[in-house]
Amino acid sequence: MKRIVAVLLTLLIATSAAYSQKVKLIIDAGHGGKDFGAKNKAGDKESDLCLLMAEALEKYAAENNMETQMTRTKKDQNLTHEQRSGFKVDKNYKTYYISLHMDKDKNTSVRGNKLYYCTKAVNAGIAKQLADKIGKGLEKLNGNQSRTEDKDAIILTRNTIPSIMIYYGHVTNPQDVKLAKDPAFQKEVSLLIIRSILETRY
Ligand SMILES: [Zn+2]
Repeated sequence: MKRIVAVLLTLLIATSAAYSQKVKLIIDAGHGGKDFGAKNKAGDKESDLCLLMAEALEKYAAENNMETQMTRTKKDQNLTHEQRSGFKVDKNYKTYYISLHMDKDKNTSVRGNKLYYCTKAVNAGIAKQLADKIGKGLEKLNGNQSRTEDKDAIILTRNTIPSIMIYYGHVTNPQDVKLAKDPAFQKEVSLLIIRSILETRY
């Protein structure tokens, strides 16, 4: 009996330790500095819009008791692929890497969300699960269709933590840009990412 109690107690402690493991978010605002990514005719830059989204995600993640780390915090910051990746699994945290981007198209009426993970990367299964979940939620938030695809990107393969890229609309589409600048939309997307992370099995 004593032995059973001891085993049960050990199990209980192990379970509660797993649940109390803090979530950490590495937030990557795509591009920056001279590399502004995509741009529209009005002069809106993908790099600036993504920084707005990154700042919102940082704020709401902290409010939801997550640790955060931004790869860049300024508009004029130039980062190499190496400087914005290379994050390793840390046993003290459940760490995720979220890189934020917007798409572009010659046709300004084209919309749509894209989510990328890399099958070659470590923890690709978790990344795909997370990308699918966020993609589904994004469809409801901006009315765009979402597609999850495999992408062999350096910033994804250099990390050993689950890593995804989120393209939440097109910088060349006026409706998407209006949403991207709207703090209410930034909040909804941030909460969607946070909720999806909490629902994903690490
Ligand atoms: Zn981009």
